[in-house]
Amino acid sequence: MSLQTSGLVIVVSGPGGVGKSTIVDDLVKRDPNLWLSRSWTTRERRQGEVADAYKFVTREQFERHIADGGFLEWTDFLGNLYGTPTPSAPDGKDTVLEIEVDGAQQVKKLNAKALLLFILPPSRQEQKSRLRGRGDSDQKVEKRLRKAEEEEPVGKAIADYVIVNDDLGATVEEMIRIIDYERKQRNV
Ligand code: ADP
Ligand code: 5GP
Repeated sequence: MSLQTSGLVIVVSGPGGVGKSTIVDDLVKRDPNLWLSRSWTTRERRQGEVADAYKFVTREQFERHIADGGFLEWTDFLGNLYGTPTPSAPDGKDTVLEIEVDGAQQVKKLNAKALLLFILPPSRQEQKSRLRGRGDSDQKVEKRLRKAEEEEPVGKAIADYVIVNDDLGATVEEMIRIIDYERKQRNV
């Protein structure tokens, strides 16, 4: 599978509950040149989660799409499958992928020019309270916190930029500045 896009590919990664979805939703509203890819997942929709947060599918549908070569990358994250369908950004737009670190590594291999922004929580305690605050069960919170210990060293090692999401507005501002700068540097 190759990654054919005329624009920049921006990968936003980081442990669960750090604020990735919130950040990318804000980013695409603020920058009309950005196009957000919608992932597929086999996990159930969370209570209160918007219906188009993902394309929610069965494992059979997901596996059929793998067999058809329909994913740029996919992975098993804590027992559910998540994947980026082959991107199709409108002409002239840059693609934003909000994915975990295994997927980020796969995308980096496919496109060396991809810009990888790795987001960290201000502390594990704050990450825990964000996960709880969005309604994750205690078991899910614990699994995501443990997974974060594995993900962070890998994410930091492959990232172009590491950003601590303390104040949301400041994080989005910083990302907009980085993206503007890298658009010029990477000349894509
Ligand atoms: P992720 O996509 O990384 O799993 P979410 O975007 O679902 O994380 O965010 C988890 C929770 O934290 C949400 O309830 C969100 O509103 C909240 N959140 C995100 N960023 C911040 C921030 N900077 N400060 C406080 N709460 C935040
Ligand atoms: P959640 O269940 O919290 O929505 O997502 C779990 C993890 O899967 C998060 O780290 C999220 O970024 C990641 N994720 C979401 N979509 C994709 C995808 O298409 N590919 C990969 N590799 N990870 C994804």
